[in-house]
Amino acid sequence: MNKVDNFWEPGVSSGPCKVRNISRRHALITLAQLEQTYPDATCALRYVSPWQLLVATILSAQCTDTRVNLVTPALFARFPDPFSLVGAPLGAVEELIRSTGFFRNKAVNLLGCARAVVESHQGVVPQTLAELVALPGVGRKTANVVLGNAFAIPGMVVDTHVGRVARRLGWARSGQPQGVEKELCALLPKEKWTQTSHVLIWHGRRCCRAQIAHCSNCPVRERCPRTGVNRAK
Ligand code: SF4
Repeated sequence: MNKVDNFWEPGVSSGPCKVRNISRRHALITLAQLEQTYPDATCALRYVSPWQLLVATILSAQCTDTRVNLVTPALFARFPDPFSLVGAPLGAVEELIRSTGFFRNKAVNLLGCARAVVESHQGVVPQTLAELVALPGVGRKTANVVLGNAFAIPGMVVDTHVGRVARRLGWARSGQPQGVEKELCALLPKEKWTQTSHVLIWHGRRCCRAQIAHCSNCPVRERCPRTGVNRAK
């Protein structure tokens, strides 16, 4: 295992937590309550292969999953795999993904990613964090989405919802996604990482919203320090 994969590998999850006041036990009980509240929490992107999940996740940057799901059927019908996308005209890809925003950058990244997967991985999406983040347009968030959902390899996905909810719950202090990822991976056992991401995203969208936290209806209001919450109802 290389250095990137080993950055905050488990092992740390069994030791004492040094980065926050919330105990691991407290966090796990809170997480269990959230899992009970959102038993269907899962990845909202539609895909039938690791490659398609990788593409959909790249497209989801600065875009809703709903919008991505509207765009990908036509994209995947024409370019279903990295081999077909390698030779695709850039303009055709741009048109197919235009409504997801930042479409020019995303199209370049998709073509670059397809080329890298074909040339360096025989057309097969790699299954390590280090190999995934080496692909054009793929950061840690995208890589962890693919690991956790396409390969069942635990990955802690930190998007804006996960970061915000984790800080409010007292599970993390960092204002940076990579810092939050590190803190959550240290706090929670590895087997919980992927589902924690799903549950916090769902909770952030439905209850612990960015502008107003709906604390009075929150299933974990008795266990939450509400750190940094400015507006609640
Ligand atoms: S109590 Fe409020 S701040 Fe805490 S998780 Fe629930 S909605 Fe978010």
